[in-house]
Amino acid sequence: MSSVIDNPPVLGRSAPSLISLVRPSDVDIRRGRRRLHLKAAGIVALVAVAYWGLVFSSAGWIGRIGFAGLLVVGVVAVGTGIFHDANHGAFSASRRANRVVAHSADVLGASSWVWRFKHNTLHHAHTNVVGRDSDIEQSPFARLAPQQPWRRWHRYQHLYMWVLYGILTLKWFIVSDVVALLKGGFGTDRFPRPPTPRDVAVGAGGKLVHLGWAVVIPLLFHPWWGVALFYLGASWLVGFTLAMMFQLAHCTDVVEFLSRSDAEHQESFEVHQLRTTAGIECRLPLLGGFVRWIMGGLDHQVEHHLAPRLPHTVYPAMATRLRVLCAERGLPYHEHRSVWRAVRAHGRWLELLGRDPSRITADLRLAPGRRP
Ligand SMILES: [Zn+2]
Repeated sequence: MSSVIDNPPVLGRSAPSLISLVRPSDVDIRRGRRRLHLKAAGIVALVAVAYWGLVFSSAGWIGRIGFAGLLVVGVVAVGTGIFHDANHGAFSASRRANRVVAHSADVLGASSWVWRFKHNTLHHAHTNVVGRDSDIEQSPFARLAPQQPWRRWHRYQHLYMWVLYGILTLKWFIVSDVVALLKGGFGTDRFPRPPTPRDVAVGAGGKLVHLGWAVVIPLLFHPWWGVALFYLGASWLVGFTLAMMFQLAHCTDVVEFLSRSDAEHQESFEVHQLRTTAGIECRLPLLGGFVRWIMGGLDHQVEHHLAPRLPHTVYPAMATRLRVLCAERGLPYHEHRSVWRAVRAHGRWLELLGRDPSRITADLRLAPGRRP
């Protein structure tokens, strides 16, 4: 599976080699990895302190809520700043180290083996291609791409999806991995090889470990209703935050959605990624710094989609050059001006795609390939 996952296929004709022009030097990449390792150590320390405070300390309710908030921040940062990089092979120069750290996904309850197929192969190689990118499939709950069928309840999706995002991620941890393993893949895409007994054992073991630290150990010290309240609340917040980071990059009215045949006619893999992906500017001095830290480079989604095997700490430097290069070549470089504007763009997209397509008026200015 690794060859497909680690080397997403180039779509279409010759690539403009943007990445060869903005790729940091080997020295800068090594520095970037060192910064990433320091950041990862800080994240692990944060999670440990937050977990200790939440489960073992004698803090009162207010204190425990504070520690739970810190734990949510830490777990999201593990997802964006450790397991995402590691599963892309970007955390370390050593393949073995990447695979070991990638198991942080299993500890959080998501099979790293399934994740690499779903995220690296289906999402990164077929971004926003309907029927291939499983990340834009939320059927029957939501219609996220114009090519997907409309249902009557979708007219309210701009209201209820915000709540469902947190729950859908929990469903993914509990149900979707198992269903994917039983079906042998996602949609019409099959795993390149059947999972080995070890892959299944690691995935199942990871879910047990997750259940152990998140539910069983807390139950030894606290009443069941308190554990249930904190677990469900924290899970929802982690799920919502992670879902938002994805949706703001790929499900707004500034990017494109492609059918399978559209995707085959894309000029190149790089142009495909530029058309289907948006970054987010975070300029506020203090809050912006925190947002960039917790997003782990996912505010630089464009750079991530062009160079997913580089540590996310090198993306800001790449972005400066890439913006100029895209402008010079007349290529799109989508970037929301702020997190709030990105959230509003996602809300607009949900509202637009929730409308009955038969009643859409002609004056709606939709980009090619987006007509509901
Ligand atoms: Zn990725």
